[in-house]
Amino acid sequence: MRKKIVAGNWKMNKNAEQTEDLLNELIEKMPTETDVQVIVAPTFVNLASAVDHLEFINIDVAAQNVHQAESGAYTGEISADMLKSVGVDIVILGHSERRAIFHETDALIASKVNTALEHDMTVIFCFGEELKDRQSKNHFNVVENQLRDGLFQIEAKDWDNIVLAYEPVWAIGTGETASPEQVQEMHEFIRETVRKAFGSDIAEDVSILYGGSVKPDNAKEIFSNPDVDGGLIGGAALKSDDFIAIVNAI
Ligand code: PEP
Repeated sequence: MRKKIVAGNWKMNKNAEQTEDLLNELIEKMPTETDVQVIVAPTFVNLASAVDHLEFINIDVAAQNVHQAESGAYTGEISADMLKSVGVDIVILGHSERRAIFHETDALIASKVNTALEHDMTVIFCFGEELKDRQSKNHFNVVENQLRDGLFQIEAKDWDNIVLAYEPVWAIGTGETASPEQVQEMHEFIRETVRKAFGSDIAEDVSILYGGSVKPDNAKEIFSNPDVDGGLIGGAALKSDDFIAIVNAI
């Protein structure tokens, strides 16, 4: 079943106290009745406390990354089993910052996806073209390749645990948003690409989020597109009023 989802990627922001403050504000402002799955992704060190804090509220907690290996000599890394052991079963993978700054390739992302799925985690799989790709009209190819090389190794049964997040790199943290027409055009293409590879049922059921400078004042227009099932939110997820306004915009 296709779900409506709003996920907040907090990136490397908020220490322990600030995390607790923002969670408290979200708890206070969350709509009591909603069919939107709301997810927050604080930093690794605050995940366990966030899970505890949100135990009785319908906000889920995601990690921003996971290592592909089960355990071992990988200084500074976090495994899927560690995440699951503190109650986190959602992970954001393939974010453009991980791809650009930490040089994550499609092949590496594919192995992280496989590990997360083996641990029965839900993967929010991020992908999207750079400005130069759009300017050279190569954006559909880039997106198709990212899907094929980073995700399409999975089996049909795994799609229940996949959420797609289309994030054009030129719109992330820049204040520049893709137009509602550009978003719908790409989301339709993504659904069609999934349909060709895995069939109509999977394509219709998978949630496709848009990410890239979503704010309270543009969320409604973006979310009103038929192939947009919600958003992955960066900057605006750090302010409770903005984040909740985006949740309410679906
Ligand atoms: C993101 O980093 O996933 C993102 C969408 O950021 P922003 O909303 O700040 O553009």
